[in-house]
Amino acid sequence: MKKAAPILSAAVMALSGTLCSCSEAEKPHTVSFFAMDTYMTASVYGNKSDADNVRETVLRLEKLLSVTDSKSEIYAANHAMGRETLLSPETYEAVSFAEKMSVRTGGALDITVYPIVREWGFTADEYHVPDEDTISELMTHTGRDKLTLTDSGIILAEGTEIDLGSIGKGYAADIVTAELTASGVTSAMLDFGGNIQVIGSKPDGSPWKIGVRDPFGDELAGTVTVTDSSVVTSGGYERCFEVDGHRYSHIIDPSDGYPAESGIASVTVIGDSGMLCDALSTAIYVMGPERASELRRCSDDFEAVIILNDGRLLITEGLEDIFVPSDNYSDVSVIPE
Ligand code: ADP
Ligand code: MG
Repeated sequence: MKKAAPILSAAVMALSGTLCSCSEAEKPHTVSFFAMDTYMTASVYGNKSDADNVRETVLRLEKLLSVTDSKSEIYAANHAMGRETLLSPETYEAVSFAEKMSVRTGGALDITVYPIVREWGFTADEYHVPDEDTISELMTHTGRDKLTLTDSGIILAEGTEIDLGSIGKGYAADIVTAELTASGVTSAMLDFGGNIQVIGSKPDGSPWKIGVRDPFGDELAGTVTVTDSSVVTSGGYERCFEVDGHRYSHIIDPSDGYPAESGIASVTVIGDSGMLCDALSTAIYVMGPERASELRRCSDDFEAVIILNDGRLLITEGLEDIFVPSDNYSDVSVIPE
């Protein structure tokens, strides 16, 4: 990840096109569309066709990766009853990356938890707390050992289903970034439902300033100033429900089949790759601050902002110069490397 100088600028305003001093050449082409269960916006300093291609690419990937579209490759794999399903190279890459990240995060990221996510009602917004026996039964179908990648396909054990919701938006952002860069774009910002990815710097050469949302309110918890980076947040507030004052959120701890309760209210991961940051934001939400610190100590490909349920804010050392907390988060602790 390239670190940018901590210059506070009007990047976010420039994004919305309200910066009056913009010359015509500096105005981005913007596309907004709904895909992968969220609203997406791309602001591209380039040709209109570059911006239009963003939508085409994301919709093409969604067709391959969707867990609900009966024509998708993931749907085919989930309904193959133990037989091999051939995968396109793109789907194969996403699944094999998820497998690698599952190993790296000690199983905190686990794409086989899908049936449990569905049982809790998070896929259809029909929430309920399942009984323990149901969770125990579903847990017998989850885990890395139920998934085998062959030379060009996948075999899932009967009863096992996968879902790439934890990395899909980040993967799409990486592929779009590669395509835009190949087409000569040197400045763009993608906002794929809270997954932010920036190409280069702003057209005037200054870095992008990205807001980190406060999980306890509508304000920002701070800003991070970056170029050529991905900034991805996972938070318990995003999709959740409450029963008897207890809040259950949509990220499942694969070790017990219950919504993760690691003490983290939200985690923002910053790095080069959208798919990596997406995988890690989901995994760190499950892992909690101590395991996340250990993971960071043996890694050099990401930084993180972690906001705990008790209101404390932690950042990794690499963010000291580029993260600026809001007034309500003036007490920031640094996780040493
Ligand atoms: P979002 O996509 O809502 O911004 P995430 O990237 O954190 O958030 O992904 C959460 C989604 O991933 C859930 O909606 C669910 O489909 C799936 N999921 C939940 N828990 C896990 C897990 N431990 N590992 C992998 N995928 C998960
Ligand atoms: Mg994720």
